[in-house]
Amino acid sequence: MTALTTSLRTPKRRWRLINGGMMICEFCGGQTVPRKVRKQHWLDGRLYLVENVAAEVCTDCGERYFHATALDQIDEMLKAEHPVKEHLSVEVVSFA
Ligand SMILES: [Zn+2]
Repeated sequence: MTALTTSLRTPKRRWRLINGGMMICEFCGGQTVPRKVRKQHWLDGRLYLVENVAAEVCTDCGERYFHATALDQIDEMLKAEHPVKEHLSVEVVSFA
């Protein structure tokens, strides 16, 4: 079971290019550790939950950073024939 963050920050800001190894969190200045996480991933207007994705996770605030190569590999995997573990139905709501 991996720790999940449900940050509502703009995803684009979190997908920074990194070269691996420890890095410093741009939000809180904490240090990151490599982890395998479950990632929400949009591709061609469809939402996927991808498990076992390599990321750098801030030990202080939980911010997650993904390798550009990992994101490209996810795109390629999803575009090709791939096994599906489970289908989920999600609610979209507005918090007002
Ligand atoms: Zn942080």
